[in-house]
Amino acid sequence: FSQFIVEKQNSYTDDYKLGGVLGVGAFSQVRKVTHRKTRAIRAMKVISKSRLSTTELQQKFINEINVYKQLDHPHILKLYEFYQDEKNYYIIIELCTGGELFDKIIEKGSFSEKEASYIMKQIMSAILYAHNSSIVHRDLKPENVLLDITSQGNYNVKVVDWGTAKIFSPNQQINEKFGTLYYMAPEVLKRNYNEKCDIWSCGVILYILLSGMPPFNGRTDAEIQKSILLGKYQLEGEVWDSASAQAKDLITKMLQYDVQKRLSAKQVLEHPWFLQQHQEKVDKQ
Ligand code: ADP
Ligand code: MG
Repeated sequence: FSQFIVEKQNSYTDDYKLGGVLGVGAFSQVRKVTHRKTRAIRAMKVISKSRLSTTELQQKFINEINVYKQLDHPHILKLYEFYQDEKNYYIIIELCTGGELFDKIIEKGSFSEKEASYIMKQIMSAILYAHNSSIVHRDLKPENVLLDITSQGNYNVKVVDWGTAKIFSPNQQINEKFGTLYYMAPEVLKRNYNEKCDIWSCGVILYILLSGMPPFNGRTDAEIQKSILLGKYQLEGEVWDSASAQAKDLITKMLQYDVQKRLSAKQVLEHPWFLQQHQEKVDKQ
């Protein structure tokens, strides 16, 4: 590990005081910690070495740290330090107190266009930055978007889980299958894709934010996969009839089956829907 990562040689307990549990993942537990010197409150992801049994999981972990080290953006979670002992790895990360976007969707059902545009703009600015840094995320979904509530009551977004991210070269076609089925682009299922797969996943997130429903669904994985490969989804019915034409236009351009025609992160951010939502905000002031 040490050849890849700048890691601390001492014990995390020298630098941090352990606090309560913030969340539990498939291979980790996340705890609140306080930096002894500065009193800064952060989060610590504890990953049990015994559970990283395969080289694939080990690789995912090394990859996550390597990618984090190359990214510095207001909407990408920051990594501070890394420790290890015989039992565990310990990653010190920025604390997010607002929970997962996933839980907010469950709680609220759906979001107004203004709220959705505010969230989507932040996710897309993180993705534009990552793509400009030649990094494709490959597992964008509401579970991997953490929220912080600002003092003005707005959502501040942090994109997390860069374990399956990949550093790509120009015009590279990638063939490994990664991600979570509901959000997976058709070309990822066909194992021949590039960074535009992230735009598709964000299109799925946007669709869910506005409607509370996934665009591609089914009772089994095989059915969901079939629905994605068909590329057909509903933009009619009660919810969509009251949605703005701009919102629907943007979704159509993000869930564009043809990768060449699908918008880039930059083009998504330039779409009039964001301007329109921002304009309404200004009008109200
Ligand atoms: P895994 O990779 O094992 O799934 P996650 O990184 O998703 O682990 O973390 C597990 C859970 O812990 C998350 O779903 C989230 O609820 C919580 N969590 C993770 N990172 C933070 C953080 N920086 N601040 C607050 N809670 C966090
Ligand atoms: Mg997770």
